[in-house]
Amino acid sequence: TYILGIESSCDDTSAAVLCNKKVLSNVVATQDIHRQYGGVVPELASRAHQQNIVPVVHQALAKANIDKKDLSAIAFTKGPGLMGSLLVGTSFAKSLALGLDIPLIAVNHMEAHILAHFIEDDENNREPSFPFLAMTISGGHTQIVLVKDFFDMEILGETLDDAVGEAFDKSAKLMGLPYPGGPLVDKHAQQGNSAAFNFPKPKVEGLNFSFSGLKTSILYFLQRETKKNPDFVAENIDDICASVQNTILDILMDKLQLAVQQTGINEIAIGGGVAANSGIRTRLKEAEEQLGLHTYIPKFQYCTDNAAMIGITGYLKYRKGQFSNQSVAAKARFAIGS
Ligand code: ATP
Ligand code: FE
Repeated sequence: TYILGIESSCDDTSAAVLCNKKVLSNVVATQDIHRQYGGVVPELASRAHQQNIVPVVHQALAKANIDKKDLSAIAFTKGPGLMGSLLVGTSFAKSLALGLDIPLIAVNHMEAHILAHFIEDDENNREPSFPFLAMTISGGHTQIVLVKDFFDMEILGETLDDAVGEAFDKSAKLMGLPYPGGPLVDKHAQQGNSAAFNFPKPKVEGLNFSFSGLKTSILYFLQRETKKNPDFVAENIDDICASVQNTILDILMDKLQLAVQQTGINEIAIGGGVAANSGIRTRLKEAEEQLGLHTYIPKFQYCTDNAAMIGITGYLKYRKGQFSNQSVAAKARFAIGS
């Protein structure tokens, strides 16, 4: 079975070809235009998708050495995401499926971040077994999901305000780092002392998260310190990043541990762009040893937005005959399991 996956929910245009669970190609065109604005500009994102989608799909097919006539189905991101961005991928997928007369498969982007764990790889064929806990940590979401089966998922907790990726990006912005700041905070943190500064952790009941308070306390902290020493940020960037990252990781790990306690499940799968963070990888390794968890993190390229995760989700739906008809529409808000 050959599936073409198409992803266009935010600012990356991506297409991938899968043969069953194996990725033959995964092409991602990242839109650099947003960097100068310090965040994603929706109008510019949809225009860039419009320009990129055809070349990206062509490249994915060429790299996979697959003719479009050999495709079994087309999977695309229906939501959640930016409406204008989603419309480009949705319309393209519908037209191509219609033209080739093959099934169309609508995919939930957040389910795909979780199901990316089922991509088969030559180096790594470990996959979580059901039921498992998925912690999806990305630019727009922070969720702990109970995954009972491929398409039987229940959100146990999520952020009440900012997503964890936003917490990274907004903290980075306060330190004058360019967008997206998450990877840069990670880089500086690797050279810094995480105990240098202390930031308060939010008190949120149960398995929900909150990150907006952290951003505010970082803002006040930086204002206070730069008043005393205008070069405070430049002189301490590594330590500030390490301390901020440490606080964010503490918040995530505390909730994860609580979820393990509440459910008795010790299979843990992490997904989303923040899963690329080097600190979280270390923390999970520690938790494996200390708490007896089995943790899973996808390869870097399957953590941030990519079409391979749309392709694998498409393949899993294809096996079940879960197809969409041509009247399917993009949805900016689209909850897991709905
Ligand atoms: P969503 O999936 O919720 O719709 P998204 O698709 O925009 O959001 P992703 O592409 O999954 O999000 O993740 C992007 C986020 O991951 C950004 O906020 C980015 O800063 C963050 N990120 C990427 N790499 C790292 C890293 N090494 N450390 C911390 N954060 C990182
Ligand atoms: Fe994403």
